[in-house]
Amino acid sequence: MSDSLPGFADTVVIGAGTAGAAIAGVLAASCDQSLLLLEAGPDYGSFEDGRWPADLTDARAIPTSHDWGYSSTAQSGRRVIKFDRARVVGGCSSHNGCAAIWGSRLDYDHWAELGNPGWSTEDLLALFRAGSERLRVRTPPRDEITPYQLAWLEAAPRAGIPLVADLNNLDENLGMALSPANVANGIRWNAAFAYLDPVRDRNHLSIAGGVLADRLLIRGARVEAVRAIRNGQEVTIKTGRVVLAAGTYGSPAILIRSGVGPEAEVRALGVEHVLDLPAWGETCTTIPWSDWSMPALRSSKQQWRNSQPATGCPRNRPSPKRDLHDAAAVSICTSTRWAGERRSSGRRRGGPGRWRWRA
Ligand SMILES: Cc1cc2nc3c(=O)[nH]c(=O)nc-3n(C[C@H](O)[C@H](O)[C@H](O)COP(=O)(O)OP(=O)(O)OC[C@H]3O[C@@H](n4cnc5c(N)ncnc54)[C@H](O)[C@@H]3O)c2cc1C
Repeated sequence: MSDSLPGFADTVVIGAGTAGAAIAGVLAASCDQSLLLLEAGPDYGSFEDGRWPADLTDARAIPTSHDWGYSSTAQSGRRVIKFDRARVVGGCSSHNGCAAIWGSRLDYDHWAELGNPGWSTEDLLALFRAGSERLRVRTPPRDEITPYQLAWLEAAPRAGIPLVADLNNLDENLGMALSPANVANGIRWNAAFAYLDPVRDRNHLSIAGGVLADRLLIRGARVEAVRAIRNGQEVTIKTGRVVLAAGTYGSPAILIRSGVGPEAEVRALGVEHVLDLPAWGETCTTIPWSDWSMPALRSSKQQWRNSQPATGCPRNRPSPKRDLHDAAAVSICTSTRWAGERRSSGRRRGGPGRWRWRA
C-alpha cells in the first residue's frame, strides 16, 4: 500500500479485524470495484512476507503487544477490568485464543425466529464449513495436548461436566472436549491470512494500516465520506458504501462521533445530532473471563516446556508438535439460550453430578 490514501473508493471497510478482513477479502474476490480497507493498527503484509511479529503468530500464548488498552471504570470503587482488543490487521483474530467453535442450533434458530433472515442454523452451516476451511481449523488429537490440558479433560466428568465427542456438534448443549482451533503448524491462522492474503495482489483493493477512522460524514441518511487521520493529518475519503467493522468498542465510538446515537447523548458530547439510534451502547455484553495466577503451576509448565525437544522451527513457525496454547485446547460448549432457560426455569444444575451454573 502506498503512503497516500485514495480520495474515493466505491467501498470503504473500516477496521481490518476478524469481520473486516473477511468482508474485504470476500468482496475483493467477488467484484472489481475499488475497495479501501482502513485499519488503525499496522499491516504486516501477507504471512509469506515473514514480517509478522512472532508473538502474534505463535498460537501458544495470548499476546498483549498490540492492545488498544481499554479498561473499565473502577468497579466497587477499586477494581479495574481490562478489556483486551487488538489493534492490528486481523484484529482480535491476531491475538485471540483460536478456539473455533460453531455454537448452538438453539441460539441461531432463535435469532431467525425473532425475524432475522439468514441466521438459522441451516442458513449458516455452509458458511461455518467454508470459514473453518479458510481458517485451517482442526481438532487436535489427544497426543498433542499438554499434561495440564489433559488434567482438565480428565477432571471434567468428576466435576459433573460431561465429555462430548465434538464441540462443533450444534445439537450438543453442554460438555467439554478438545477444542477445534484455527492453528496451523503452531501458527495462529488469523482472519488476515485466511481472507486477505489470497487477494492482496488485486489492484482494486487497498489495505491501509495506521489509519484511524474518525467519523462518517452523513448527508440525509447516506454516508458520503469517511474522515480519517493518518500521520496526524486529517484525510477525507469519498465513498459510495461504508462497512463499519471496527469492533465492539470501535464501531459505537465512530458512530457517536458521527452524530449517530440517542439524541441526548450525542448532543451532550457537543456533536451535531445526525441520526437517531436509540439502542446505541445498550446491549454490549462480553464473555466472563477468569485469569488465574498460579505461580507453582506456571513454573511447572515452564519446566515441562523446557523438557520438550527443541524443534529448530524458524521465527514465525513454532513447533508443529506444540500446536496449541493453554486456553484453546480444551473448551466447554454451552448454548446461551439453553443456559438461560435452565436459569429461568429455576434449575440450577447444569449437568449430572455436582457441577452448578454460576451465572
Ligand atoms: C484475548 C481474547 C481472546 C479471544 N479468544 C477467542 C477464541 O478463542 N475464540 C473465539 O471465537 N473468539 C475469541 N475472542 C473473541 C473474538 O476474537 C472477537 O469476538 C472477534 O475477533 C471480534 O471481531 P470484530 O471484527 O468484531 O472485531 P476486531 O477483531 O476487534 O476488529 C476490529 C478492528 O477494527 C480496528 N479499529 C477499531 N477502531 C478503529 C478506527 N477508529 N479506525 C480504524 N480501525 C479501527 C481494530 O484495530 C481492529 O483491527 C477473543 C477475544 C479476545 C480479546
